[in-house]
Amino acid sequence: MKQETIAIHAGNHTDEFTGAVVQPITLSTTFERMKDGSFREGHIYSRASNPNRASLENVLAKLENGVDAAAFASGNAAGMAVFQSLAPGTHIIAPDDMYHGLRNQLKLLFAGILEFDFIDVDNSEVLNAHIKPNTGLIWVETPSNPLLKITDIKKVVAIARKHKIKVACDNTFASPVCQQPLTLGADIVMHSSTKYFGGHSDLMGGALVTAEDNDWWQRIREIQTMGGAIPSPQDCYMLTRSIKTLPYRIRGHVSNAQALAEFLQQQPAVEQVLYPGLPSHPGHEVAKQQMTGFGGMLSFTLKDGPEAANRVINKLQLFTRATSLGGVESLIEHRATMEGPDTKTPFNLLRISAGLEHIDDLIADMKQGLMR
Ligand SMILES: *Cc1c(COP(=O)(O)O)cnc(C)c1O
Repeated sequence: MKQETIAIHAGNHTDEFTGAVVQPITLSTTFERMKDGSFREGHIYSRASNPNRASLENVLAKLENGVDAAAFASGNAAGMAVFQSLAPGTHIIAPDDMYHGLRNQLKLLFAGILEFDFIDVDNSEVLNAHIKPNTGLIWVETPSNPLLKITDIKKVVAIARKHKIKVACDNTFASPVCQQPLTLGADIVMHSSTKYFGGHSDLMGGALVTAEDNDWWQRIREIQTMGGAIPSPQDCYMLTRSIKTLPYRIRGHVSNAQALAEFLQQQPAVEQVLYPGLPSHPGHEVAKQQMTGFGGMLSFTLKDGPEAANRVINKLQLFTRATSLGGVESLIEHRATMEGPDTKTPFNLLRISAGLEHIDDLIADMKQGLMR
């Protein structure tokens, strides 16, 4: 089935007892045993599994073309489960512009437990040079945050396979509608469901989807259910509800991002626009091959430096000055301030999450925002 159909049906079922067309929220933390000791649907206790989480995990697995998914309380909890699943002493290779929250996790929480190098993962020569006998995982994030750098997933997978190294891909920026890393050979996909899956800036969530049900995946499942960083039944319900419109929302995000990128590129005050949908973007050709849409995120730099960035961001009326992404409302942020002192993000850069407002209104606002 196609994604539009999966999105609507794989996370929902008509209630057997009441006929409710929309699956109800099951708040019960515990489930009755039958006289023979068995459980009706296999649910025993809600930390281990719950009907709403089961439906959410089902739709997530199918959307990413995986065999199973595990839902978490946040994207960071999902990422952390991957790091916790690795044997102490394992070496991780991660991108030098990895999502700062996960980079900080490695640096501050896993120092002394895991080894890691932050490098340009898309550069094969550099990647090969950093592979060690204890390298167990290569982390990919494409398009990256906030520079929208494209990493060739197939190329990284080919190198990893040679050394029996696993590949995990943070697919938050693309969403499965624009990119399916498991289809390109990755072992695990990670998501912040807080972003496009939730889509309305009103819930936190994370997910992992696996290509294979193996020992590694079972270890991750144990971390999910024993660690307990799970989403509530309400949040699972909200997510399955939002996911029904994901493929259509993503089309709007992508088309607005493309139009904004093309508009910004023509503005004299703008130094550079970073969007993989622009032929001028260095990753455009690879993006065209591995993505089915270029996503709803873009960044741009201003010729007149940080002062100009500050002026523009404060003049905009329709774009909300806030971090995060993937909601129906357009957001803009000065990313370097958000990332802290060790950021590599240029100070004249603004990052946009293109929302679903009408493009004419977004461009009109941007036009007045760029005027001196
Ligand atoms: C937001 C985000 C995360 C972290 O997810 P949370 O839900 O905030 O914990 C990880 N990776 C990327 C690319 C993100 O944008």
